[in-house]
Amino acid sequence: MRASVDSNRCQGHTLCAMIAPAAFELDDLDGRAAPVSEVVSIEQQRLVREAARSCPERAIHLADDPDTAADAPHTPDGGDHGGR
Ligand code: SF4
Repeated sequence: MRASVDSNRCQGHTLCAMIAPAAFELDDLDGRAAPVSEVVSIEQQRLVREAARSCPERAIHLADDPDTAADAPHTPDGGDHGGR
């Protein structure tokens, strides 16, 4: 998973850094957040998702990384082939 912060939206509420302090750092001058690393480690993904949900400005964008997407539950045959 990859994380980025839209600096135009971020208002420096610091919620993300409080929820996931290992994943987000705050600028000393304007308090805006940035991901510590663009690629989110498996261990940090739950907290980073929670931080993204909690951001009042919806400034945190997450994207599944093709290399780590395999950890998502996936059912190739979802059973919706009910036939016609
Ligand atoms: S919670 Fe959202 S608005 Fe607040 S610092 Fe983090 S990214 Fe910026």
